[in-house]
Amino acid sequence: MKIPPSLSPSIAIIGAGPAGLIAAERLSALSYRVAVYDRMPMPGRKFLMAGRGGLNLTHTEPLDEFLAHYGAGRDFITPFITAFPPDALRGWCDDLGEANFVGSSGRVFPKSFKASPLLRAWLRRLEAQGVEFFMRHEWKGWDDQGALRFETESHENELVKADAVLLALGGASWPKLGATGSWQPLLREKHVSVAPLTASNVGVTIAWSEHLTSRFAGQPLKRLIVSCGPQRVVGEAMITQQGLEGGAIYALGPALREAIAHAGYAMLSLDLRRDLSESELMTRLTKPRGKKSLSTFLASAAGLDPVSIALLRESFFLRNEKLPDDPYALAQAIKTCAIKVQAMNGLERAISSAGGIDQNELDPHLMIKKLPGVFVAGEMINWDAPTGGYLLQACFSTGVAAARGLAEWLSKNRA
Ligand SMILES: Cc1cc2nc3c(=O)[nH]c(=O)nc-3n(C[C@H](O)[C@H](O)[C@H](O)COP(=O)(O)OP(=O)(O)OC[C@H]3O[C@@H](n4cnc5c(N)ncnc54)[C@H](O)[C@@H]3O)c2cc1C
Repeated sequence: MKIPPSLSPSIAIIGAGPAGLIAAERLSALSYRVAVYDRMPMPGRKFLMAGRGGLNLTHTEPLDEFLAHYGAGRDFITPFITAFPPDALRGWCDDLGEANFVGSSGRVFPKSFKASPLLRAWLRRLEAQGVEFFMRHEWKGWDDQGALRFETESHENELVKADAVLLALGGASWPKLGATGSWQPLLREKHVSVAPLTASNVGVTIAWSEHLTSRFAGQPLKRLIVSCGPQRVVGEAMITQQGLEGGAIYALGPALREAIAHAGYAMLSLDLRRDLSESELMTRLTKPRGKKSLSTFLASAAGLDPVSIALLRESFFLRNEKLPDDPYALAQAIKTCAIKVQAMNGLERAISSAGGIDQNELDPHLMIKKLPGVFVAGEMINWDAPTGGYLLQACFSTGVAAARGLAEWLSKNRA
């Protein structure tokens, strides 16, 4: 039986990112009155930004391998992803009319390679289910009577009393897209433990020469093996004005952070021809060079592309050394191209943030134990994962779980 709107409990969801929106969808489908609040003028700003890179929604590897990517957060995240796994997310996407496909690496993308058509279809569904949106509403905490306090665009205060609340306020990366982490003191005031938000899946700063950046910034380095100490990652990277970005660099984040904390810098070693052994390379490089320039020779004999040759030269230039002529030294340099990293980039350009609400503060249904009736979902909880679809999947799965927990709580507490 559908509950008449005036009698159904009211739910306030704060944060119109994927975690908040999927919870709004689930709860409005159960006929609850759902209002979504967000400080931004439009919902899903970060989701749209993720769409610029093709929107890697999730990954198709076996669940056990999938869950391993959450590292220390694996045990926490497992029940939520098991209950709403990658296949369910793909089905949801199909259902909204956005076909998706599996890329060669097992990663899942919408066929349109964008977030905007999916978000449009999603918002239409939410409106049809009666979800109300209150944009340009910045959450400022609670008043003494437990009402939610919002500041509107005109700097007026608005008080909202809801039967249950779901916070899906995100982390603190790319703050201009809405998630700034300004919720941290509001929860700490309520004695909820929150680990500081730090940049994750973030690029690194390298003191490139003007020569390198003017010609090669924005160019990808494909099929690499990148190492930092004993940590090795197979993947891709991209040269930027400030340094390096990309999946392989993000995955080395913890090792890089630790090295920088210890020594003030970190050394990256790039294997620029991962498919050839050092001795195979050396054999190729012992061929007579003739009148070819060293760059032309490296391209023809070692099969290096222009950006890899430039990087190889840069690694010697930055050490005030000359690129060697000797085949053995060259082969070694191609297999272990050494680059000094000065720092990790900050939250402004990080894909995600680590830190957030301590998992121990939450019950198994994602309710904050110290704040009955207040549930949380998404990146604001302290779990971390690399890029590859693991971030969005966890946001969707925790959004679904928090919605279920909240509905169960309401049915027990408002009977
Ligand atoms: C450039 C980029 C590319 C990415 N690409 C991918 C990808 O391909 N695959 C992937 O899995 N992940 C990707 N991500 C990460 C992914 O987008 C995030 O993990 C995800 O959006 C987090 O969802 P969320 O709902 O928890 O938070 P968010 O999407 O950050 O939403 C939180 C919402 O809360 C609102 N809010 C915050 N504080 C307040 C307040 N005080 N009052 C009112 N509203 C508030 C914000 O305005 C925001 O709309 C990418 C991120 C970036 C930045």
